[in-house]
This record gives sequence, structure tokens and C-alpha cells, in this order.
Amino acid sequence: MTTRQCPGLHPLAHGAYAWLAPQGGWGWSNAGLIVDGEESLLIDTLYDLELTGEMLRRMRAAEPLAKTIGTLVNTHANGDHCHGNELVAGAEIIASTASALEMSELPPEAMAAIMQSARELGLLGEYLQRCFGQFRFDGIQFTPPTRTFDGELDLRVGDKTVHLIEVGPAHTRGDVLVHCPVDRVVFTGDILFIDSTPVMWQGPVANWIRACLLIEGMDADLIVPGHGPITDKHGVARVRHYLQYVHDQARARYDAGLGAFEAAKDIELSEYSAWSDPERIAVNVDSLYREFSGQQARTDTLELLRRMAELAQMS
Ligand SMILES: [Zn+2]
Repeated sequence: MTTRQCPGLHPLAHGAYAWLAPQGGWGWSNAGLIVDGEESLLIDTLYDLELTGEMLRRMRAAEPLAKTIGTLVNTHANGDHCHGNELVAGAEIIASTASALEMSELPPEAMAAIMQSARELGLLGEYLQRCFGQFRFDGIQFTPPTRTFDGELDLRVGDKTVHLIEVGPAHTRGDVLVHCPVDRVVFTGDILFIDSTPVMWQGPVANWIRACLLIEGMDADLIVPGHGPITDKHGVARVRHYLQYVHDQARARYDAGLGAFEAAKDIELSEYSAWSDPERIAVNVDSLYREFSGQQARTDTLELLRRMAELAQMS
């Protein structure tokens, strides 16, 4: 099944919904809602207050139980999955311990400051404007998780059991899957990018590949990615194949002595070149090189964005 990305709220099962963004590019993230009995659980908020507010209005119009959201799960620390947290007032906000720490290191005001300086950043600034210029980062109140966990956590939503499974570090440091077996649905956060290129800020890649295999083995047929259309297990396998392919290509170039950015420019994306944002290869190869060399220090995020800006301009 490859559904077109039809934006808005999609009922998936009895009391389970996906919110799909109008496109899957930078910052355009999906979310989810699970309700039962008198309870409701929201999976992720969006990149800014306007987008999150519109999503909540649409959810409340379709589903009375969404009027009071008791629990919010942030699948990971990236702002496009948690910047709208302040709009879910009174909810218990749950994330992995690693995600909660990562969120505190790049609060919304840091993103607002970067965007304010974009005009002085030349090619990088143009790229930032193109990727993130549609979102409003000023005035967002940083609203961190109120409850953290490590490994796994089971929640109840009415009579439904919802499993939270920490599979990171992978895309970020503390990625979490949200699986509701009775609804046969899994919300994967950014463990899945469908029709756009996965970006591995953290790694190791083996964790991410293991997470894909875990989803492929789940008793679930409705798979909601962090970005892009609802998918199935073939969609998950394609993401896994991309990660393995980039790993193998990067490894060969590392062994041949190429630098990380040289390698990123050299890798032929072949069947994956149709996915949007192919320039994310620059981040993926950099993270893989960090793994290969056993280095701990991450390359500065602005430097990685600068490399992506250069690649995007070349393509
Ligand atoms: Zn995302």
C-alpha cells in the first residue's frame, strides 16, 4: 500500500487516528491520537503553535474524547514533534529519559535565534529559510516531559493497552515507538520517513535497523511514520534497505580514506534518489563515520546544515 499523502485527520481503527501533514519535508510531521472509555492519548505535537492548534481543533471536532487529552507522548526530541506541547495543558507528558535531556538542549528559542540570524548566513541561511521559513518559532513556551522512562512502558487508555518501546539512540538519542495492539497500529515517530530521506542525527545505524525489524515483526498493519504517508511493512523494509545501503557505501569509502563529506557527495543514491531531501546523506555519512572511527564528538549541527545546503544546491 502506498497511500498518497492526504493531509488532515484519518480515522484508522475504532478510536485511533493519524494526523498527516500536507507534505513530508523538513518540519512537516505527523501525529496520532488513541482514545477509549473516557481517556485519550496524543502522540506528538507539531513544529509550531499554529499548526498544533489547528490539529487539536480538528481532533476535538471529530472526537469528543480529544477535548481533554490526559496523556501526551513525545516520540523524540526534535521540535517538530514537541514544540506544541504547551497547548496540551494539564496532560502528563511522557518521553524517554534520553529524549527529555535532548529536548532541554535545543529549546524552541534556540531555533528562533538561528532563524533570526539566517539572513547573515549566506547559502546556509537560504537553505534554512527554504526548509524552516514556513514555521514560527518565536513565542513558544518550552514545555518538557513530566514523566520519563527507560526501555519500555505500558500505558492504559480506557481498556486499551499502549506499549511505549524505546528503540533509540537511532534517529535521535531516545526514539520511542507507540504500539496499540488492539488497534493494530504503530506510531513510529522519525524511525520512519516515507517518501523522504531518513536523517540519522545520532545512530548507531544497527539500532535503527533493529527498530525497523521490530516493526516488521509486529502484529500491526497500520504504520504511521513521523513524516510521509501511512505505510505498510514494505515501506518499513525500504527504509531499512536504505540504511543498510548507505552504511555499506559509507564503509567502503571510509576504508578507502575518503572524508565524510567527500563520501556523502560520492555516493550514488540510485533507487533512493526519488525521495525528497536526498542531501540528508551528508548527516547520515557523518554519523556513520563517527561510528566507524569510535569518535564520540558530534559534528556541529550548523556545519551539517551547511553541508546539506551545498548538496541541495548541487542537485
Ligand atoms: Zn520529525
